[in-house]
Formats: sequence, C-alpha cells, structure tokens
Amino acid sequence: MTRLIDLPTLAALVHDMGAAHFLCELADEIHADFLRWNAFDKTARLASHSPQGVIELMPVSDRRLYSFKYVNGHPGNPAHGLPTVMAFGVLAEVATGLPLLLSEMTLATALRTAATSALAAQALARTGSRSMALIGNGAQAEFQALAFHALLGITELRVFDVAPTATDKLVRNLARTPALRLVRAASVADAVRGADIVTTITAAKCHARIVTPDMLEPGMHLNAVGGDCPGKTEIDPEVLRRARIVVEYAPQSRIEGEVQQLAENHPVTELWQILTGKVKGREDALQITCFDSVGFALEDHAVLRLIHRLAQARGLGTDLALVPTDSDPRDLFGRTRSRLRRVV
Ligand code: NAD
Repeated sequence: MTRLIDLPTLAALVHDMGAAHFLCELADEIHADFLRWNAFDKTARLASHSPQGVIELMPVSDRRLYSFKYVNGHPGNPAHGLPTVMAFGVLAEVATGLPLLLSEMTLATALRTAATSALAAQALARTGSRSMALIGNGAQAEFQALAFHALLGITELRVFDVAPTATDKLVRNLARTPALRLVRAASVADAVRGADIVTTITAAKCHARIVTPDMLEPGMHLNAVGGDCPGKTEIDPEVLRRARIVVEYAPQSRIEGEVQQLAENHPVTELWQILTGKVKGREDALQITCFDSVGFALEDHAVLRLIHRLAQARGLGTDLALVPTDSDPRDLFGRTRSRLRRVV
C-alpha cells in the first residue's frame, strides 16, 4: 500500500507540532543530506515552459529511496484564484520501485525552501544578525519568517510587497509570534535599509531588479529565492558581481538562478561544500553574500522522508491501493473483473 498524505493532513501535522518545530526538524534532515551529497544520484530538473509559467519534474535518489516532485510556477495564478506554486511528490523504495508515499508538496515546498534558506544563512549571514527585510509577502513568506526566527534568531522583520493585501495577510498570520517585531516598509529600499539579511521571494516572470547596488550595505546577506527559472530573476546583476554567490546545484542554478545573468564561468560555491567544511562560509564581516536559491530535489527527498516517518509514527494519512500488492502479482488481468466503484 502507498500512504497518501493530503494537504489537510500535512497542515494539521504542522499545526500540531508547531511550524517552528517542524522547520527545525526539517532543517536537520536537509543538513544531514547536504553532508552526504555524494550519496545522491543528482540531475537538474526537467522543465516545461509556457508563456504563463513552468511545470517541472524533480527526481533524485540515494541507494535506498527515490523521490520526485511535480511542481509548477505560474505567477499569474493568484488572479485566477490559484496559488503561484502547487506541488505533489512521491517517495519510493529503490530496491523494488514500490511507491511508499504520495504526498501533497505545496506546503512541503514552502517548508523545505524556508529551512534550506535558513541553513544557508547560518553559514553566510553575519553572526548576530537580528533583522531581515522580507520582500514579497505571498504564500512562501511566513515560512521564511519563522525559519529565520527559529534557526537564526531574527527578531525584526521589515516587510514589503507591491500588493498591500499580501502584507496584511502576513502581518495577521505572524501576530501569534510576538517575538517577531514586524515593520511595514514603504518601499523595497525602505525595507532593506539597515537590514542584516534581505530575503527576496517575489513572483514575476521577468528580469526584475528588486535589489539594486545602491541598497547594498557592507556585510549584508541576500537570500534570493524568487528567481528560479530562465528569464525570471530578482537581483540586479551588478549586485551579484559584488557578492559571494552560493547555489544549491550549479548545473541547475546556472540555467535557473540569479547567476543566469552572469558569465557561464562566474565563480559560484555549492552549499554542500560549505556545510561539509570543505569551503569557508562567510569570509569576513564586510563581505556581501548571496544564497541564489532555486530549490533542489534533494530538499524534497528530505521533506518526503520526514513526512513519511512522522506519518508512520503517528498513524496519519490513508492507505491507497495505487499499485497491485495484495494478490498474485502476475494476475493483473484478473483485477479487471472487479466491479466499478463510482466516485460520489
Ligand atoms: P505568491 O504569488 O504567493 O507571492 C509572491 C508575492 O510577490 C506576491 O504577493 C506579489 O504581490 C509579490 N511581488 C511581485 N512582484 C513584487 C515586487 N516587485 N516587489 C515586491 N513584491 C512583489 O508566490 P509564492 O508562492 O510566495 O512564491 C514566491 C516566489 O518564490 C515565486 O517566484 C516562486 O517561484 C519562488 N519559489 C522559489 C522556491 C525555491 O526553492 N527557490 C520555492 C518556492 C517558491
């Protein structure tokens, strides 16, 4: 049987554990996976582009478990009542190919993206960072805020979105986290001024210039999350040239990340190199650092494993007869004799 975890079930699990607690467990899981980077069979994701957006398949495996995620990115979707990003994924046994888990991954993607951003910032942001500008206050934003609060000790959030209703929603949702002081900024520049960390997590299918060179201050860390597709970036290339750039998986990031705007051989460091101690993280207090996040399948493998483990331990989800496992495996035709059960 394949365990199904739908959106309401994962949402209730996160509520039950507390989002911050879930994010910390997940960050540990993702961190452990970056430490065993060479154990994974990795590939850049397969993207199908259209004028409105992109649909992607993201596979990865280690010797024990295979996973893939289906995910889209359609910045115009909210105008039609749909999220910009929607996802689901599968975790399967490598030894047999049996799918163990079919899970919602819209929420799981927001969680794993935030946990990975915070992990990267732990290595790259200045020690003692307390304030973060959060540009783009949509579906992903609260998760970033909570991950940076829980994992880095960020206590001041300077928030800005071109849509004030998005910021209203963020302020409402974070009201239950009084240790996070929210400051509504009047513009991107206003939000960024004086911030230790700048997170950009906007959605627009264009080469946007959210952060420009005049906004940079010595020692800033940029967490650039929204640019994750060819022709979709957020950071002025001159800002990138002044920064030390860290990516997840260079073959994918060169196509999809902020670095698509730079020369093909522009130096980048992969996050695993820093987390394993092969390469230094932040080099000095004045350095500008940039985590050019696009999202990598290894992070999905980690969150799917965590969901599967928690679901088993707590008896959550539904068993699905997705593949034949309960009778003569060769008698597939025999199954076609069963009566139709109408969906009601
Ligand atoms: P969303 O549509 O819910 O929110 C995006 C927000 O950005 C909106 O509120 C919009 O008004 C705002 N915005 C757009 N242009 C802006 C600008 N110039 N200045 C300020 N705000 C602006 O989308 P989401 O689900 O929150 O995703 C945000 C982005 O993150 C998307 O581009 C998505 O593709 C990307 N993403 C990346 C990863 C990753 O792993 N790197 C994972 C998930 C999502």
